Amino acid sequence: MVNIRVPIHCITIVLPQKQTMQNNTDKQISLDSRYLRMAQIWAENSYCKRRQVGAIIVKDKMIISDGYNGTPVGFENICEDDNDHTKPYVLHAEANAITKVAQSNNSSSGATLYVTTSPCIECSKLIIQSGIKRVVFGEYYRITDGVELLKRAGIECVQLKTIGDNVEMVII
Ligand SMILES: [Zn+2]
Repeated sequence: MVNIRVPIHCITIVLPQKQTMQNNTDKQISLDSRYLRMAQIWAENSYCKRRQVGAIIVKDKMIISDGYNGTPVGFENICEDDNDHTKPYVLHAEANAITKVAQSNNSSSGATLYVTTSPCIECSKLIIQSGIKRVVFGEYYRITDGVELLKRAGIECVQLKTIGDNVEMVII
């Protein structure tokens, strides 16, 4: 069991998954949980064995980018070395999604990033510099310094957890 230090000062909102949308908060949770589920499906593209992570970047209700963890373009699709350690040049899902925007005509400024696992510190630096203003994630990565850095930069961080029939939104 890994001990995960969850940043304090959280607000938790619980919404039944099938509840009809009543107000803007409910609507936001419903949208967020759908985009996060898309990121979860996108993670299935990853050929990494240790952990599969998916990310979606949404701006003005449009998906402008996506990514999953994997090796750079042109490298063989194997993420782990002979000792089952992740190769140092494997890109995280967030880094792949952000760099994909760089190749497009879109701008990530003001966008929301949906990612299945909370960002590490390296990806958090990229998130800050790319102008992303909101991060929604599913589970915590074993180290939470990335989320702490995002908070320091004034980026809204939200954890969405599905517990039974409820979606629990934790505003960090
Ligand atoms: Zn990362």
